[in-house]
Amino acid sequence: MTKAYGFDTLQIHAGARPDPATGARQVPIYQTTAYVFRDADHAAALFNLQEVGYIYSRLTNPTVAALAERIATLEGGAGAICCSSGHAAQIMALFPLMGPGRNIIASTRLYGGTVTQFSQTIKRFGWSAKFVDFDDLAALEAAIDGDTRAIFCESVANPGGYVTDIPAVAAVADKAGVPLIVDNTSATPYLCRPIEMGATLVVHSTTKYLTGNGTVTGGCVVDSGKFNWSASDKFPSLSAPEPAYHGLKFHETFGPLAYTFHSIAIGLRDLGMTMNPQGAHYTLMGIETLSLRMERHVANAKKVAAWLEADPRVESVTYAGLPSSPYHDRAARLYPKGAGALFTFAVKGGFDACVKLVDSLELFSHVANLGDTRSLIIHSASTTHRQLSPEQQQAAGAAPNMVRVSIGIEDADDIIADLDQALAKATA
Ligand SMILES: *Cc1c(COP(=O)(O)O)cnc(C)c1O
Repeated sequence: MTKAYGFDTLQIHAGARPDPATGARQVPIYQTTAYVFRDADHAAALFNLQEVGYIYSRLTNPTVAALAERIATLEGGAGAICCSSGHAAQIMALFPLMGPGRNIIASTRLYGGTVTQFSQTIKRFGWSAKFVDFDDLAALEAAIDGDTRAIFCESVANPGGYVTDIPAVAAVADKAGVPLIVDNTSATPYLCRPIEMGATLVVHSTTKYLTGNGTVTGGCVVDSGKFNWSASDKFPSLSAPEPAYHGLKFHETFGPLAYTFHSIAIGLRDLGMTMNPQGAHYTLMGIETLSLRMERHVANAKKVAAWLEADPRVESVTYAGLPSSPYHDRAARLYPKGAGALFTFAVKGGFDACVKLVDSLELFSHVANLGDTRSLIIHSASTTHRQLSPEQQQAAGAAPNMVRVSIGIEDADDIIADLDQALAKATA
């Protein structure tokens, strides 16, 4: 599909074409595990990566491929790999780059689950992460060493109203010769296009806004196709001969699609973090209305955040869309369509008032999710961040008096009325 089309057109059409067998207009759910080879020579060519085609659905599936192409197109990437969850996508993103003893530099402002994955779980692979405040570019540069293989941040960080200066961070990554990976889950390609700002890879939890209605978990890695993997000897998986494919060199053979092909041929083949075709179908349905939903999410978030900030029962609101935010100007410059619909606010009355608030809301759902059509809330200190000390909770943006909201696309007046009645009970 030509890139001359606008975003609203691409979110419906990219990656999809009438089914060649039946003419079906919507992308069919290809509910199959395997694909019949034309003959033995065809099978051999597929297994040697001499011909592109379907072999087995752990590697590729036509429904999942349509979704991958659609997300790659919306992000302006060369290729994409869909995975079983956002967390799977993060491991898949790092896999071709890393090896025992290698590290990544990660922003201190990340989704809580990502902090755990990077600070604990990846150590089992011999990988490690150094966490740095990405507003301090000198500290970021100083943290990069000879074993650093990637820099990782979120575009609009979940949930503290922090927006990353991606062009500035990309310049540091570029100078060091390492790829920048941006988690674009909270912003979506409608609000932010990290590749245009210099990112090499973009990761998504498609569980959130891309699907948009809280139905399926999924993830995606998008490759810009722009990184020169052969410029140094840092990325042997992509530049050096691959023993499992008779010494094939991915970068030399596949050029800008090297990373994508490696992630399918080695990553999905051996890690198996595959998205299923049903899940891909739900996400394809969701993406068709992404821009419409994001516009409403942002408009509602602005209204609700402004109302909360003016309310005497509320201590503070951290939303980059508010003029009071220290990130307001950066957000306006880099994310002119809006700073997302996810923010935190502090309630007067502390921990107990927050628990009462969450229990008193009627329209909001108390869940550990975000990016749903419905408005969602969570009191992190009594749920996801319960095991942490008060100091750790504070540092994670999950202070006892804070709640996180994901503003939905209902009538803004109804969202505000629900908060109003619940705040009255919480602070009575
Ligand atoms: C939810 C989320 C993830 C993890 O995605 P899952 O689909 O839950 O595995 C990663 N990053 C961000 C910003 C998220 O919101």
